[in-house]
Amino acid sequence: MGEKTLEVYDITIIGAGPTGLFAAFYAAGMRGMKTKVLEALDVYGGQLTVLYPDKFIYDVAGFPKVLSKDLARQLYEQASAYKPEILFSEKVINLSRIDGGIIELTTDKGVHFSKTVLIAAGHGAFTPRKLGNPSVEMFENKGVYYFVKDKWEFKGKRIVIVGGGDSAVDWALNLKDIARETYLVHRRTEFRAHEGSVIELFHSPVKVLVPYEVKEARGNNRLEAVKVFNNKTGEEQEIECDAMILQLGHVVDVSLFKKWGLEMDGNAIKINGRCETNIPGVYAAGDIASQTDSVKLALLVTGFAQAAIAVNVAKNYIDPKSSYFPGHSSERRM
Ligand SMILES: Cc1cc2nc3c(=O)[nH]c(=O)nc-3n(C[C@H](O)[C@H](O)[C@H](O)COP(=O)(O)OP(=O)(O)OC[C@H]3O[C@@H](n4cnc5c(N)ncnc54)[C@H](O)[C@@H]3O)c2cc1C
Repeated sequence: MGEKTLEVYDITIIGAGPTGLFAAFYAAGMRGMKTKVLEALDVYGGQLTVLYPDKFIYDVAGFPKVLSKDLARQLYEQASAYKPEILFSEKVINLSRIDGGIIELTTDKGVHFSKTVLIAAGHGAFTPRKLGNPSVEMFENKGVYYFVKDKWEFKGKRIVIVGGGDSAVDWALNLKDIARETYLVHRRTEFRAHEGSVIELFHSPVKVLVPYEVKEARGNNRLEAVKVFNNKTGEEQEIECDAMILQLGHVVDVSLFKKWGLEMDGNAIKINGRCETNIPGVYAAGDIASQTDSVKLALLVTGFAQAAIAVNVAKNYIDPKSSYFPGHSSERRM
């Protein structure tokens, strides 16, 4: 354990997704709090970076259109300007209150101490749902992918995308002009994806196979072909390809948070309008949070607002004389 980890921080944020990064800016920049961020992955941005880095987002206030990875980078820059300590590849596995109301966070690397904690953990650590087909799993990272980190990796390739949700359809549309050939394989005839995207898909050069499922992956050292079958007629087809991108959603594992003694609302941590959980000094915001007496909107804008509320409430918790209102950033010398 390094010396630094023994220091007691004012606030420790779990997760460097958009909510956690904005909270880090807010705590360090707007409220002058000694701030630490613990992120399980080796990158910042959460879903923005891992799930849809190359897609445009249209509903962030003030940005008519912003590329997901650009927004992640700007959030990181905005937070970093105020020098919070951001530690990557460090997953929080336990939270408990110790003497004097200090909160102890145990990670897979060490122990951290904080007066308050903001949980901005999204859906928990990312675990992509798999097909459960050993012939496919043996080509993981050798042609079989669960995330698209850099779309240019697929330039000129023949790709098969599997799934029927927004991620699958959006990646098919996004990669169709870069890839040499794009297939979309989905086990149902109906799609869960946005209706407009599905219409665009059927008018695009993407070869859509429904209701088809993956039977087998084939290749030597790398993936070379995928055998699919029609689950109504049994008809089989072999598609020669360089890559298969599985977009089957993510397994949500919130068992960790339940073990910490947090009151849950389904898969989310229950919070009140002040973003307080049932544990004093512990707050939650963004996708992981569910506010009683409100509507759950798993969107960036909701996470940003909750991050601001949680940080201001946390500031007042450790310094009851301080105002909840942080002042206007436009009137400060930041
Ligand atoms: C395909 C797709 C398109 C979308 N499009 C839009 C859109 O157009 N507009 C919009 O507003 N929203 C959109 N969203 C939703 C938006 O991305 C989420 O609402 C947002 O990412 C939530 O941010 P967050 O920081 O709360 O959680 P996340 O982005 O999930 O980040 C959570 C972070 O916490 C980390 N973490 C989890 N557990 C731990 C732990 N135990 N220890 C340490 N770190 C941990 C994770 O690794 C992750 O980095 C979209 C989502 C998807 C999947």
